Amino acid sequence: MQVIGIIGGGQLGRMMALDAKRMGYDVIVLDPVDRSPCGQVADEQIVANYDDLAAIEELGRRTDIVTYEFENIAIESVECLERGGYAVTPSSSVLRITQDRLLEKRFVQSLGIATAEFGEESIGYPAIAKTTRGGYDGKGQWRITDDASAQRARDEAGSATLIWERLIPFERELSVVATRGRDGVVVCYPPVENVHRAGILEMSIAPARVNEDVAERAREIGRKIGSGLEIVGTYCVELFALADGTLLVNEIAPRPHNSGHFTIDAATSSQYEQHIRAICGLPLTEQRLHSGAIMMNVLGTGTGNLLSGASELLSDPSVVLHFYGKRHAVAQRKMGHFTLLVDGAPGADDIAHAKAAHAKLGWS
Ligand code: ADP
Ligand code: MG
Repeated sequence: MQVIGIIGGGQLGRMMALDAKRMGYDVIVLDPVDRSPCGQVADEQIVANYDDLAAIEELGRRTDIVTYEFENIAIESVECLERGGYAVTPSSSVLRITQDRLLEKRFVQSLGIATAEFGEESIGYPAIAKTTRGGYDGKGQWRITDDASAQRARDEAGSATLIWERLIPFERELSVVATRGRDGVVVCYPPVENVHRAGILEMSIAPARVNEDVAERAREIGRKIGSGLEIVGTYCVELFALADGTLLVNEIAPRPHNSGHFTIDAATSSQYEQHIRAICGLPLTEQRLHSGAIMMNVLGTGTGNLLSGASELLSDPSVVLHFYGKRHAVAQRKMGHFTLLVDGAPGADDIAHAKAAHAKLGWS
């Protein structure tokens, strides 16, 4: 196995490619925008749309294995590779389930794992309506607090199909990042605790501040879902943890995940290396954190493309900075992140430290 193809040129693809290059592979990425974050570090970029089947087939022909970095690609692209006899993972059956919130929740329940109550029609309120397909970073979602907001969701969604979910008064949000190898072995990282702001991940705290019973049940859910899907590669299960310890699955990402960025700096090997190992049929590494970590996303603000404060931030020896090579710091766009490495499990003072570090950065 020598050449890896990646559909999607964003930061997740970039971090996959960086690890693949370190491990000696060639990487060809397919993305519609030239010099994409991944294209900048890959050997080559095919500039084409994700549903351009001729270009997808070229990617299959020129690589030994194809993978993808986000789930909103056309299922036909993966099916086209499968039909052509090209190796591609995750499979189209995994993508079909994970790109549709209704199919995904039904699948999770079929494994005997709990989700929020949901329906294809309004379930009253408080609730959240979401487009079943295409949403990310809180896009395509409406808080439902009364009949008028339900009607507004229907109007704004237009022809898009909606799923109506009960609003969960969670104590914490957790995620389990895991990798399943071709031999069916699943290796999980310790659960992470995630803080969102306006539907976008703001901070991940690793390991999550939960007791060992909750952590083990979260890992068990992560393993069950990976095995049930028969996915090959890294994936993530997002969970709501209630005050009584109940865990509900929110969603599944069939790819490395923003909440797993900390694994680059704080774990035995990163979620990206584990993904490359899995798709290339190499053994996975058991994972141990050699440090606690707090990851914070650095979002654009729309006020300019010039980053300030990096030198103050980097004078802190416990900070590792990652930027994705995006030119325009559009408001709410994920431009980079940093990992704050801490001794042992992160606590309140470490969170304050991370927030103070984050406040040093700005755009002008
Ligand atoms: P996305 O694909 O945009 O990440 P999510 O379903 O994960 O979509 O929703 C984004 C965030 O919105 C979640 O991380 C959580 O903070 C909040 N959220 C989503 N669904 C619910 C729910 N049923 N109850 C409470 N909060 C929710
Ligand atoms: Mg999510």
